[in-house]
Amino acid sequence: MEKRPRHRPKRAYPDAKRQIFTSELRACPHCGRELELRRNWHVRKTIQTLNGPHFVAGRAKECTNTECLHRGERYYASQVLLLSLPKSTYGLDVLAYIGWQHEHEHRQLVEIQKELNQHGVAINERNVGKVYRQFLALLSASSQEAHDSLEATAAEYGGVIWAMDALQPEGYGTLLYVLYEVLSGKPVAAWQSEHVSAVELVNWLKPYTELPFPVLATLSDGENTLIAALKASWPQAPHQRCQAHFLNNLAEAVLDYDDQLRKDMRQDLGRLPSVPEHRSDTPFL
Ligand SMILES: [Zn+2]
Repeated sequence: MEKRPRHRPKRAYPDAKRQIFTSELRACPHCGRELELRRNWHVRKTIQTLNGPHFVAGRAKECTNTECLHRGERYYASQVLLLSLPKSTYGLDVLAYIGWQHEHEHRQLVEIQKELNQHGVAINERNVGKVYRQFLALLSASSQEAHDSLEATAAEYGGVIWAMDALQPEGYGTLLYVLYEVLSGKPVAAWQSEHVSAVELVNWLKPYTELPFPVLATLSDGENTLIAALKASWPQAPHQRCQAHFLNNLAEAVLDYDDQLRKDMRQDLGRLPSVPEHRSDTPFL
């Protein structure tokens, strides 16, 4: 029995819709003998979806043929994965909703959290951030699509440009390392981790160094670990500091003036009547 993390509140949903799945495989893929259903559930959990709570459970099957080399190997009920990620208690529809609202509607995580709460999904802001990172990680898993896009970019530009960034979605704690291809603007891979060393990053980047595309350049901010990892991974490619980060650094110097200007303007314009509030009811997907 897995220990319940202390921060996870125990929630009870007596009216949750029940869905029990069994492995969809009928016969052992190695010996062809019919698989036996295992007695215990390999997963059971209640997930919150946009349509209310669902109790989902899965039973695995196994091969019991004593002559089969793969005897005892378990085949899980993969339909559960179509509803929610492993160890997550939120539906994939909640994940897609959070990702979409943040990426495409540019809404803040806290706004998304409030809206989900209003629709009966109990979630705190921290978990909205966590689910959002899972959304990004899922995006990066569509590797065939990424490969096709890289191929098209390399054909058009004669090569690709790799950029790496370390994001902190919550402002502290775990980082999200994202590898982008700059010319196509495509995130190709993402990795959630605590601060890692350049060597660990090099290991993570290894599969991308083996791709058959010429690398025109690499980009990152001034963070030493990122620069070291990029230079070690693509030693032939020139490394550059990102324009956006460079511009941000330049902008720091004028922030004080900008602040003063904002204060002055607020004083001058503050007495004007405010704009009537615009209300929009965003429908759920
Ligand atoms: Zn078998």
